[in-house]
Amino acid sequence: MGRFYERELPKGYVEALVVDAYDKKSSRGMQLLALVIAVIAFNMVLFFYIIPQWSEIRSGFSIIGGIGVIVAYFLYVSLHELTHGAVYKLMTKQKVMLGFKPPAAYCGVPDIYLYRITSLVSLFAPFTVFGILFVGLFFLIGDPFVKTLILVLLALHLMGCAGDLYGAWILLRKLRDPATLRKDMGPAQIYYTRIADQDD
Ligand SMILES: [Zn+2]
Repeated sequence: MGRFYERELPKGYVEALVVDAYDKKSSRGMQLLALVIAVIAFNMVLFFYIIPQWSEIRSGFSIIGGIGVIVAYFLYVSLHELTHGAVYKLMTKQKVMLGFKPPAAYCGVPDIYLYRITSLVSLFAPFTVFGILFVGLFFLIGDPFVKTLILVLLALHLMGCAGDLYGAWILLRKLRDPATLRKDMGPAQIYYTRIADQDD
C-alpha cells in the first residue's frame, strides 16, 4: 500500500484550487451541483412515488412520522460527517475535526496533505453507505407513508453529498494527476498539484 498522506507539503507543489463552502465564489460549482441534484431527486420522488401512491401515503400520514424524519435527518447529518471522520482516522491516524456552522456540518483533517486515494475514499464513503442504507430501507419497509419519508431522506442525502461529489469530480476529472494533494480543513479544501502538471 502506498502512503495516504504527507505531513508537509512536498517540494514542487503549488496551490491549484480552493473550494470554501462559506465563500460564494469558490463554492459556486458545488452550490450549482447541489441545486441540480435537489431538483432531480425531489422531482423523481414526487412524480415517480408520491403522486402515483398519494391515496395510500395519505391514509398512513402521522405527525410522529413527520417529527421522526426531522430527527432522523439531524442524526443522518451527524453520521454522515462521522463516516468521513472514521475514514480519515483509519487511513491517517491524525486528529480529525468535526464541526457545524449553518448551513453545513463538516469534517476535516486539517494538519496534513491527503493523497488522492485517501480523499476519494473519504468523499465517497457517506454517499455509498447511506445510499445503500436508504435504498435498502425503502425496499424493506412496507408502509407507503414511511417509504415516502425514507425517499425524502434519500433525496436530502444526495443533495447533502453535492460537496463530496464535487470534490471527487475535481480529483477525477479536473486535477487528474494521482499525486495531487488535498488539505481538508472542513468547510474549505485546498488542492495542490505538482508544478510540472500546471501547463494543462
Ligand atoms: Zn460529506
